[in-house]
Amino acid sequence: MDTPFYVQFFWFLGALLFILGLKGMSSPVTARKGIVWAGYGMIIAVVATFFVPGLQNIALMVAALLIGSAVAWISGQKVQMTDMPQMVAIYNGMGGGAAAAIAAVEFSRGGHHDLATTTLTVIGALIGAVSFTGSCVAFAKLQGIMKKAFRLPAQNTVNVVLALLSVVLGVAVIGMSPADPMLIVLFFVVALVLGLIVTLPIGGADMPVVISLFNAFTGLAVGFEGYMQNNPTLIIAGIVVGASGTLLTQLMAKAMNRPLTNILFSPITGNGEGGQAIEGTMKELNALDAAAMMRYASKVIIVPGYGMAVAHAQHKVWEMTALLEEAGVEVKFAIHPVAGRMPGHMNVLLAEAGVPYDKIYDLEEINGEFPQCDVALIIGANDVVNPTARTDKSSPIYGMPILDADMAQNVIVIKRGKGTGYSGVENALFYTDNCRMLYGDAQPMAGEIIQHLKTMG
Ligand code: NAP
Repeated sequence: MDTPFYVQFFWFLGALLFILGLKGMSSPVTARKGIVWAGYGMIIAVVATFFVPGLQNIALMVAALLIGSAVAWISGQKVQMTDMPQMVAIYNGMGGGAAAAIAAVEFSRGGHHDLATTTLTVIGALIGAVSFTGSCVAFAKLQGIMKKAFRLPAQNTVNVVLALLSVVLGVAVIGMSPADPMLIVLFFVVALVLGLIVTLPIGGADMPVVISLFNAFTGLAVGFEGYMQNNPTLIIAGIVVGASGTLLTQLMAKAMNRPLTNILFSPITGNGEGGQAIEGTMKELNALDAAAMMRYASKVIIVPGYGMAVAHAQHKVWEMTALLEEAGVEVKFAIHPVAGRMPGHMNVLLAEAGVPYDKIYDLEEINGEFPQCDVALIIGANDVVNPTARTDKSSPIYGMPILDADMAQNVIVIKRGKGTGYSGVENALFYTDNCRMLYGDAQPMAGEIIQHLKTMG
């Protein structure tokens, strides 16, 4: 039965809103609006689908929608900003799982499609299933449910064998019409295990890149299933997600100077392997001295990192910035593309605290300003300001573009102790003559600085 024109029109409208929403999300100024538009697009597309003639199991669909919406609403209200990566992982996994489930239902019905459609359905099923289990592992690791990376003795060989086996089974499913149910089950089992096995050895901190990759996979899977269902909204939404996920994955891999193959097949262990020994000592200062150095500076650049997110210190940091500005100090924020644990992590936190966008600068924009700045204040950042990335070829972060905080006249680092960053390597910056360490949790430390700034007037 043909889909009526008005349903197609509303699907088209939904797809248009997805694209406009994505465009909005490309800037922090319009991101909130973009998300709302994409949300309206989704509501329009879902409601329009109920008007497709001959629809069955409407009660089941409504029940699934109600349960799904309730779970998403409650978890969306409760989630902490620092737990956002795992939330993205699990929702992404659901998308991949849904695409695989659509294909499974189609196979079980034994529907007759042309070769191209069956092939796309099988490819969609494969990547959807891989993305489902892989995203579940990513969620478990980021949520702390799965604490250790698990690596098989011949991990890469096992990956290749499973990948080949799933392709062979997929080709067999395409060739046999209708396919044997056992063959279909075996195909899905191998694809699900492949997602698990590929993801298990990857460390928690590499997960955002992997989640982004799975996100791109899910988009493709949804797009392919949309082709099989003859549903343009699914095709467009899938392509949009697939393309943006691919670009984001590339951006993160580039910002870490690590090829994707390296992230997937030679994950960073975080145990500090590699890197030359660093000479010198770390020199301490107290909150009063830190406040005085910044209060009497003309220009301060703040470099936030993962530790600021963990400490939820963004509101205090903004309060401190406002006091410095009142005292006539020029303050800017320098954001590394992979500061924190997901792209845009710092931008979102600072925006949440009320920091205006025009004070936030990307790496390329701000790096030239460090030599003219009196104080670079590093709050819970480590790898993104590690100068060994420029010089030490044996370091796991060699080649990663960094913020040139070491070139500032003075550097103050707020962190709790001598802990390394995610890469596990020592930071040469902390041992330099112009650097002073302010040990403590970022939030109370920023609070102490605020008190001193207030006393100084
Ligand atoms: P980082 O290198 O992980 O360092 C964070 C630092 O914060 C640690 O050295 C830690 O030292 C300190 N810290 C932790 N809790 C703190 C607290 N409560 N108060 C104060 N300090 C605290 O962080 P980063 O410089 O932001 O770099 C991000 C890293 O993640 C990069 O290596 C990047 O490649 C990786 N990564 C990022 C993404 C992404 O998309 N953003 C994706 C994948 C990987 P103490 O323990 O001594 O306090």
